[in-house]
Amino acid sequence: MFCGVLGGTGIKVSRLCFGTLTIGPLQAGLSINQGAKLIRYAIEKGVNFLDTAEIYGTYPYIKQACQGLKKEIIIATRSYAYTAQDMQDSVKKACRELGREYIDVFLLHEMDSASLIKGHWPAVEYLLKAKEAGLVRALGISTHTVAGVRAATLTPEIDIIHCLINLDGIGISDGTSKDMLAAIKQAAHFDKGLYGMKALGGGHLISRPEEALSFVLRIPELASCAVGMQAKAEVDYNVAFFSRQKVPAETLKQLRQQVRKQKRRLHIENWCTGCGRCVERCRAEALFVADGRVKVNESLCRLCGFCGGVCPEFCLKII
Ligand code: SF4
Ligand code: SF4
Repeated sequence: MFCGVLGGTGIKVSRLCFGTLTIGPLQAGLSINQGAKLIRYAIEKGVNFLDTAEIYGTYPYIKQACQGLKKEIIIATRSYAYTAQDMQDSVKKACRELGREYIDVFLLHEMDSASLIKGHWPAVEYLLKAKEAGLVRALGISTHTVAGVRAATLTPEIDIIHCLINLDGIGISDGTSKDMLAAIKQAAHFDKGLYGMKALGGGHLISRPEEALSFVLRIPELASCAVGMQAKAEVDYNVAFFSRQKVPAETLKQLRQQVRKQKRRLHIENWCTGCGRCVERCRAEALFVADGRVKVNESLCRLCGFCGGVCPEFCLKII
């Protein structure tokens, strides 16, 4: 597996990062045993970089997958905390639930503008202290916008930018993939460590995987790219692709069967009360309430599953 270095931090990561959102309760809902086995399988195939977030609920999967491993595994996580106290709680929770004494990369989740970063500054200040104390090795932001990448680039305290980039620019809310590439280039010039997300457009590009993955692999500024995986065939395919090896015919066959089964979409149960909490939660503005129930604009939906976490009636799930 090829590796990259996260900018000035010197942290060395596999170019394929296991994005764990897909295995957890917000998406596939695999059991902890099943999810941990899949992560472990990817680790045995050469992946050393795991991406998660407090909201994903996947810390127990990662903890179990890493148990007894001698190999160094790099973990990146993030939270929405905006006060110093909340961020301290988030870092402690991550360490406790992941069974680690420190977190390699801790990000502020969905920082899509300079004003959001400014509003979360007490959390940044806590992360800087945590870095000094050895609880965190590097800090940064995750973002879906060009403005977020540009703002983080101009913030010296930020080491890492986890940004949304894919072939068709799906999910970039303030520009095109070309705009994002220009922002990524500038960030790398400032020695920021960069890794991508949503290379497959949240599932929308799943029928064109070679094209979509080749696109992100050709971006030299990205040390790695997080890809969500739910099955061994997906791990095999991605590992081969990111290692520039020929994908075995049997793996391709299994993957195609999986893709056919997997026309993913946001399912809304008919007992939705139309309370609107999920509408507020969706930063992609894909949800709206009409006739007393929530509805989704599929062309805007990134299939992230975040809305599911706030529904008191358990109405929302990616299927
Ligand atoms: S949060 Fe749940 S109940 Fe409320 S509008 Fe959304 S789907 Fe419906
Ligand atoms: S509707 Fe839900 S799954 Fe779709 S983008 Fe919004 S939060 Fe994500």
